Amino acid sequence: MLAAMPPEPDAVVPGAAVPDRARSDACPGALRLHTADDGALARVRLPGGLLTDRQALALAGAAETLGDGRLEITSRGNVQLRGLASDCGGELAERLRAAGLLPSDTHERVRNIVASPGPGAGPAEGSADVRAWARALDAALCASPWATGLSGKFLFALDDGRGDVAALDADVTLIAGPDGTALLRLGRAATARPVPAGRAVAAALDAAREFLDAQRAAGLRAWHLRELPDLLPPGPVPLAPPAGTRPPLGALPGGGLHVGLRFGVAAAGQWRALVDAAEGELRLTPWRGAVLPGAPAGRLPALAAAGFRTAAGTAWDGASACTGLPGCAKSRSDVRADAARALDGSTARGAGPQPGAALLPVHWSGCERRCGHPAGRRVDVLATGEGYRVAVTGGPQGRDTAVEVTNELMAAAVAAARRTT
Ligand code: SF4
Repeated sequence: MLAAMPPEPDAVVPGAAVPDRARSDACPGALRLHTADDGALARVRLPGGLLTDRQALALAGAAETLGDGRLEITSRGNVQLRGLASDCGGELAERLRAAGLLPSDTHERVRNIVASPGPGAGPAEGSADVRAWARALDAALCASPWATGLSGKFLFALDDGRGDVAALDADVTLIAGPDGTALLRLGRAATARPVPAGRAVAAALDAAREFLDAQRAAGLRAWHLRELPDLLPPGPVPLAPPAGTRPPLGALPGGGLHVGLRFGVAAAGQWRALVDAAEGELRLTPWRGAVLPGAPAGRLPALAAAGFRTAAGTAWDGASACTGLPGCAKSRSDVRADAARALDGSTARGAGPQPGAALLPVHWSGCERRCGHPAGRRVDVLATGEGYRVAVTGGPQGRDTAVEVTNELMAAAVAAARRTT
């Protein structure tokens, strides 16, 4: 039997019928390994994407000793290890516990917390410290027996007011306000509940429990708040759409560096270069990169030489791909290798974004499931077995162009489609 890639955070169309969630979600964890075609896969939750250098090195050691030597950052700022032997679970758990990365066996899959990654070593002036929120919420979740009833997909987002992680449409979003106050947004609601100073973490936790209690009382079973948008009162405060602005790649205005990983993957040696540059603390981002708040700008050339993306303005901007071969036997192609060749070729030819004309995002998929594709208008590149099908899709008009091309012509077709307005 073929094994697909592990479940990704799923997209549910607003207003669609509530999906059947009677079965438990199948999200992998650090203790519940997923069987993939390249071996077992472990997903290690990292609340807020926060890692010390010692913890990051422990993950690299586990990847090298127990897995295929690579580390993968997910769209929630967690880390996946692949190619693990099926019987390595005990040793992996011991390594994670020793590094402080497995504080609870019972709650490890519900520690889904993303947080604004910075910039800067501390909180922005006048705003809440979302890293402190992340640590406190993690501890409170792990100390709450009822929280094991949440699905492994239920997501908390802690936004420092910039609107970066608020744009992820998490189940419970805290948006920091002035003087320690916050707004609490439930799912995709257009309004929010005001939260008094000092109550932010408790309010987020209470909302998750309220969700479980209300759906139990109604005889419903959902994984996400957005699946039951009328279940809980959303609050009276109107919300502006979140900015969705991410920290720029390279040196950050408030200090520190932000680098991207190509398709979110780093070999252990590359990862060690990242840890070395970090000088203490790493914050993995939901955009498959890392903010290094203590790293000086002088580290950028070494990080670029190690294969990290250190500047925007290339064809790699807005590019993503599913796992493909060899990790997923459903795939008709090694889509990441094909995509990397196409993107490197386009970058070398200077076919990146031009001033005033951004490129459409692009996503490569090995089969029609299109795991991990971004929301919104994009170029969809689907392996066919004989080449690729390239289409512009996801806009208000749906799919509006499609061409079938050989591998050799795919890069040019993608570059042309990305310039579609
Ligand atoms: S989209 Fe990619 S990773 Fe997902 S099942 Fe298909 S081939 Fe596998």
